Amino acid sequence: MLELGYWSFAAVSLLIKGGEIVTGDARYVADIFCAGETITRIDRDLDAPGAEVIDASGKYVFPGFIDPHTHIYLPFMGAFAKDTYETASKAALVGGTTTIFEMICPSREMSAAEGFRLWNEQAAGKSACDYTYHMGVTRFDQANAEQLREIVKAGISSFKIFLAYKGAFGIDDTELYHTLRLAKELGVVVTAHCENETLVAERQKELLGAGLTGPEQHHESRPPIVEAEGVHHLMTFAEMTGAHVYIVHLSCDEALREALAGRHRGVNVTVETLIQYLVLDKTDAERPDFEGAKYVMSPPLRDKRNQEVMWNGLRSGEVQTVATDHAPFDFKTQKVMGRDDFTKIPNGIPSLEERVNLLFTHGVKSGKLDLHTFVNVASTNAAKIFGLFPRKGAIQIGADADLVVYDPTYRGTISAKTQMMNVDYSAFEGWEIEGRPSAVTVRGEVAVRDGKFVGTVGRGRMLEREPTHF
Ligand SMILES: [Zn+2]
Repeated sequence: MLELGYWSFAAVSLLIKGGEIVTGDARYVADIFCAGETITRIDRDLDAPGAEVIDASGKYVFPGFIDPHTHIYLPFMGAFAKDTYETASKAALVGGTTTIFEMICPSREMSAAEGFRLWNEQAAGKSACDYTYHMGVTRFDQANAEQLREIVKAGISSFKIFLAYKGAFGIDDTELYHTLRLAKELGVVVTAHCENETLVAERQKELLGAGLTGPEQHHESRPPIVEAEGVHHLMTFAEMTGAHVYIVHLSCDEALREALAGRHRGVNVTVETLIQYLVLDKTDAERPDFEGAKYVMSPPLRDKRNQEVMWNGLRSGEVQTVATDHAPFDFKTQKVMGRDDFTKIPNGIPSLEERVNLLFTHGVKSGKLDLHTFVNVASTNAAKIFGLFPRKGAIQIGADADLVVYDPTYRGTISAKTQMMNVDYSAFEGWEIEGRPSAVTVRGEVAVRDGKFVGTVGRGRMLEREPTHF
């Protein structure tokens, strides 16, 4: 019996030996001991009889990466995104992401409480990694406002609004104003999709009317100034209400300038870009034979010159986070719905699995980002903005033992054939990557080893977050 007791203790302790720990502000070689779900010791030459040992020598040890913007359950444009919490969380973990934020996107007919319940049902018991939500406010009235207060009390301390998608998720200016007022009162940050929906709708009609129907027309229908106008609009409303706002998927120079102008006026605004805006450009959406549809997302991919603007924004601290806006729709059965009409192509690309490796390869290895900036924009900043720090996004005593042992010498190739995401294509097919996680832990349990998922489906928890934006 004693021995049984010893082994059951041993099963929940983990020692990560000899890695080079890199966080947002520190870099040193040490061992990390995790008792149960938590980091309890960090020191040189730790000894822990009975603990599971991971040899991290020659490797980096990063805090678990955080994707602050994903879609997993998503009824959208007549289709359902392909992943489930099981497939998405496995893909996230294999790629080094240990916490995901999903957007709850209720239809305008659905109440906030119904949306919260529906999304929770999709996730509960099915995720292998921890998760939380941004609560979509797709309608604002008194009944919904009362429900939003309850949802914030239940641990969801961020909202999501759409200034685009008229008739689907989009809210009008009166709703925008009152959503921001409520957020300010509750100390909740409001994440926002910024595009002028009227300009998009009118441009779409003109293009289709002129017989221009291909996927490459998508970016013609929503040029950079349409996004910049959306950001300017949000900045005005945030300035009037004092609400803290976070611009999701910012894609271009014009939009960034509007955000920075707001910041200079005192608006509390943080900015997210996406991995695809850093490494892809609008010529991908111009590929022949409808292949461009794989690259249709909103805001659209931009002129290549914007990539450098986004990299510089990350390096200088103008842009805080790199997310994915992961939205997997099959090419053969779903994207094809828009073959004769680009406005019917389900928007989004799958990139949850590849975000960290692409950012390491194209950011760190190319010399565009130092290691600390890499950790900050892919993990720590999101934890700080959304009320998870230092439980997540940190390597320190008392933090959750979500750790990524990262092999910078690994070389591999991205392919839909080997990916964990449940979708029939990769936007990065055949791309080389330099570096990948060799081990990933979720609250002290090893979930990935050498690129293989070895974790536990259902172990992921919904993270409750306190409001921090007063
Ligand atoms: Zn999104």
